[in-house]
Amino acid sequence: LPHRLYGSDRANSRGLNLMINSQLQPLQQALQAWDLHYWQARPLLAEGSGAGTGINHPVLSPFDRRQQVGEVQWSTPEQVQQALNSAETAFPRWNAVPVADRAAMLRRLADLLEEHFAELMALCAREAGKQLADGIAEIREAVDFCRYYASQAEHHMGHPMRMPGPTGESNELYLSGRGVFVAISPWNFPVAIFLGQITAALVTGNTVLAKPAEQTSLIAYRCVELMYEAGVPRDVVQLLPGAGRELGPLLTGDPRVAGVVFTGSTATAWQINLGLAQRQGAPLAALIAETGGQNAMVVDSTALPEQVVADVVESAFASAGQRCSALRVLFLQEDIAEKVETLLFGAMQELQVGDPRDLATDVGPVIDETAREKLLKHIEHYRQMKRLLAQAPVPEQLREAGEFVAPTALRLESIGELDQEHFGPVLHIARYRAADLDQVIDSINRCGFGLTFGIQSRNESFAAYIEGRVRVGNVYINRNMIGAVVGVQPFGGMGLSGTGPKAGGPHYLLRFVTERTRTINT
Ligand code: GLU
Repeated sequence: LPHRLYGSDRANSRGLNLMINSQLQPLQQALQAWDLHYWQARPLLAEGSGAGTGINHPVLSPFDRRQQVGEVQWSTPEQVQQALNSAETAFPRWNAVPVADRAAMLRRLADLLEEHFAELMALCAREAGKQLADGIAEIREAVDFCRYYASQAEHHMGHPMRMPGPTGESNELYLSGRGVFVAISPWNFPVAIFLGQITAALVTGNTVLAKPAEQTSLIAYRCVELMYEAGVPRDVVQLLPGAGRELGPLLTGDPRVAGVVFTGSTATAWQINLGLAQRQGAPLAALIAETGGQNAMVVDSTALPEQVVADVVESAFASAGQRCSALRVLFLQEDIAEKVETLLFGAMQELQVGDPRDLATDVGPVIDETAREKLLKHIEHYRQMKRLLAQAPVPEQLREAGEFVAPTALRLESIGELDQEHFGPVLHIARYRAADLDQVIDSINRCGFGLTFGIQSRNESFAAYIEGRVRVGNVYINRNMIGAVVGVQPFGGMGLSGTGPKAGGPHYLLRFVTERTRTINT
């Protein structure tokens, strides 16, 4: 049978094109105006915005610690209990709202996100250190999630599924929400993943408690305010800013929680799983986790070196390498290695590291000092072993002002050397002999992660052979390996990289629901 194009009746958002002056100039003006703004965030509860702990946590910009972007009040343990109560009470009412009405709210939210493009981009740059192209991609993805999950919910939940049966009997299968969902989101996609998780949970009839990453509470707060503006009732989505260490166990250990959707580290996913499992007498909860990766790309001697270099630079260094899809280990076949490395190290010298608000900036800062220190320690370790291959230049005043890490290439002997994911602009390069290809693939699979994988080759059977052997969720052949598009490249991994189902894919919503069969003797 020929392939059927899935979901080709729906268009993704167009975003903004920075090459077109009539789009760039108004954006730059709007961003400048937002430069002076000071944001505040606090818990958003059914009853209104709560005062929180009373302590104002300052939010400093990752590219310049002297700039305070705003302040956040974290949630108290009492507010967590209050939010759980309201979410539980609101669930049956929300679950009974027709799916078309819930979907309409998501579509309104998508429109509002587009209307507030400049403010959200300003926040992405100033709170999360995202450069302009990343900011645009981020908001587009959030808009796409809203519209995609709206259509998917209507598709899955708009009508019950009629099942065959004997005469005189009607059989139907239908889907509904599970209950209270906790959404724990990361700082690296503070709009897209934050809203992707929440919208999936609420459009399927669940009520949601959102715990955003501490580093991006201001963005989360604005996003939830926009949800309320889009018509989502306050008791259906509540925001609990605060430290994961403190709030996480209160949420995931509570028997009222029917499901958790999480994106972050594998270690935290294990803790959440444990917390859910240890709830005495509580219903078994759903866990949807999207975690890390040790993503590799294998390049054989037939690959086009120029294309390899462009795709490697994008995959390893875009977003300062702070994507779980980012390339971490590049395997170059010996015969082509010298040439690719020379071109790559040259290209790295051209990378502009700098203020994320500047149009010329390719690579912005990493998220915070802890992240920077960890990455610098790793690089220093390799430098001492004389395995530092290349680094992009970073002006001294930037290093002093903010959390900048130079895009770096390190020599690796085998992927097994890496005992953790290095979440930043650090690329490891290993060379391999054609005869050792199977060992290379085995070593990649042995890491246990299974998120993204790149193959560069003009030999189709080589690509097909490797694809057949690697255990990963997203394979990219002869292109970069980041920036999965909603409804086009459903995204998510296996093994240590996550539970599935894939975000932005046709099965994602199914994990958020329960199924009921109704049989009537007619
Ligand atoms: N979906 C993103 C991509 O394809 C990565 C998401 C993440 O980093 O969590 O690049």
